[in-house]
Amino acid sequence: MSAATLAHRMRQIRPSPTAEISVKVRALGAQGHAVINLGEGELDFPTPPHIAHAGIAAIEMGDTKYTAVPGTPALKQAIIAKFRRENDLRYEVAEVIAGAGAKQLIFNALLATVNPGDEVIIPAPYWVSYPDMVALAEGMPRVVACFERDGWKLQPEALEAAITARTRWVILNSPNNPTGAVYSAREMLALTQVLLRHPHVLVMADDIYEHTRYVADFVTPAALEPRLKARTLTVNGVSKAYSMTGWRIGYAAGPQWLVEAMQVLQSQSTSNASSISQAAAVAALEGGTGFMQDWLALLGQRRDRVLQMLARIDGLDGAPPEGAFYVFANCTALLGKTTPQGQRLDSDLDLANYLLDTAHVGTVHGSAFGAPGYLRIAYAVDMAVLDDACLRIEQACAALVARQAPSPTEQRLSPFGRS
Ligand code: PLP
Repeated sequence: MSAATLAHRMRQIRPSPTAEISVKVRALGAQGHAVINLGEGELDFPTPPHIAHAGIAAIEMGDTKYTAVPGTPALKQAIIAKFRRENDLRYEVAEVIAGAGAKQLIFNALLATVNPGDEVIIPAPYWVSYPDMVALAEGMPRVVACFERDGWKLQPEALEAAITARTRWVILNSPNNPTGAVYSAREMLALTQVLLRHPHVLVMADDIYEHTRYVADFVTPAALEPRLKARTLTVNGVSKAYSMTGWRIGYAAGPQWLVEAMQVLQSQSTSNASSISQAAAVAALEGGTGFMQDWLALLGQRRDRVLQMLARIDGLDGAPPEGAFYVFANCTALLGKTTPQGQRLDSDLDLANYLLDTAHVGTVHGSAFGAPGYLRIAYAVDMAVLDDACLRIEQACAALVARQAPSPTEQRLSPFGRS
């Protein structure tokens, strides 16, 4: 037996590039290198104590058995209250579901609805997992490029042009991973106007970074345009907002027929999310968000630190992100340069590998998010560590040697060099 005997569907997907970077970072660390990982999509803050203690209390009280597949009644009520309180969205019990991370819910929703050949519109830059999940469901990812000059936001004309009779879903992610773009009410309204004209299209609002933003505006399509609510799945979770990535709790709300189908899928795969984590998530959702102001203040300082570094490096540029905890830096001016070891950097992946291998700083290449020529720098690490990482990146970039003008011999050999 060998890998050749794996199922055909395994040819449709790759390992998550962000997870791969983490594996490389850990491997270098195990070899004794002091590696700094700016590739990871998680906050460094500990889970707030009132939430952690709710998890401990759940264990101590014997809350350690299977729960209902879509979540405990207490968690469902906390989710319903959250949507009402924070988003002015009203859902019934049968319209909400909790799972092992927002990732599982997005996966369940796509698998439950996408038929072979169905198209899913994914604005790029995108979260790395969307295209592969669509491919696993035998759908066709329809990637629509967004541009830095538009603040990385999907334009209504581009959305209109991408919709076909086979479009099943449009995935909207604000604040966005990797760019940090946050759609204003006006920008989102322009997209919902387009979607109203296409009643066969489902809308996935991935709001996982809702609480991590530096701008006041946050809008979610189902609340902004109530006529879309019956075909919108609003996905959220506690991973990013409450620094609970390891607890694995996400939740979603949408039409009952869809949520029920997601529940059936989940009942045949993982059953319920961890009972202990569900209890902690109730404490998170019911415990207030006051502490997030302090977190945002710290994140803002770290974001500024990365932007200062970029301003000093000739060849790396980035605008201040409006949310999430990433800077998406343009690195095209560094491509074509040569490393001190004599290797030419031909792509953003080459640059990310160079920074990892020589500066021992992990970042993620833009191509992983459907945007070649960029580098995602996650700055949710301690300021002293970030300072060290920024210095290392600066030094590594300063050591690159500019592209040499071709020698007369090369010019004669190159078909493009002959005059
Ligand atoms: N959506 C986006 C845009 C993300 O960046 C992530 C995680 O990085 C997720 C969803 C999944 O979050 P989780 O499964 O931890 O809830």
